[in-house]
Amino acid sequence: MTTITADDLKSLIALIAQAMTRERDRLCELDGAIGDADHGIAMELGFSAAAKATAELDPATADPTLVFNTAAKAFLNAVGASSGPLYATGLMRAGAAVKGKPSLTADDMVAAFAAIAKGIQDRGKAEVGEKTMVDAWTPAAAACQAAREQGMPLEECFSAALAAAEAGMLATKDMVATKGRSSRLGERALGHVDPGAASATVIVACFHGFFSS
Ligand code: ADP
Ligand code: MG
Ligand code: MG
Repeated sequence: MTTITADDLKSLIALIAQAMTRERDRLCELDGAIGDADHGIAMELGFSAAAKATAELDPATADPTLVFNTAAKAFLNAVGASSGPLYATGLMRAGAAVKGKPSLTADDMVAAFAAIAKGIQDRGKAEVGEKTMVDAWTPAAAACQAAREQGMPLEECFSAALAAAEAGMLATKDMVATKGRSSRLGERALGHVDPGAASATVIVACFHGFFSS
């Protein structure tokens, strides 16, 4: 797949929504250990709303930017948890990154993916090492961009992104949180994977699956 259309992006968002439904209970359990046990529900609600809103867009006029922006607004309206504004900002930044393009090249797709990560980091002001979704997103985006700069096809770019997200997610086990709800726990958060890093890895796995098929 070298040309990515607005319809492809809608399908990718629908795939993420299905994955969040499958992973909801596991994500809630992870959040139950160091947070308030709602993260799986938040992610399922957010991506289900994003999938529904983007599916309803008129295929004749929807461009990639409109798909990302519509997903962002739906996510924000559906989610009361702190992941709401983080993903809404990430998705809006993806929309801005590809503004005016009727369809996306592989370079554009990688730029949009990296913009999601950058938007989340800018919005939440977390750095790598603070036990948040940034620990999965930021290395995933860097690995994806590095693979693309070496001329890799999207399947390889997102394979590299997924490996980096998984490693970043696992690294959160040994971190004490300094951002978000789990920062109140101090050292009691040690030994637990961050739920936001886990759901970020689910999303990256969907990108990988989508561009591998
Ligand atoms: P809430 O804590 O409001 O219930 P969620 O359960 O949906 O929200 O999301 C929790 C996740 O949000 C955490 O596991 C963490 O990954 C992420 N998070 C919290 N604060 C920040 C932040 N400032 N920057 C990035 N991610 C954050
Ligand atoms: Mg929570
Ligand atoms: Mg909550």
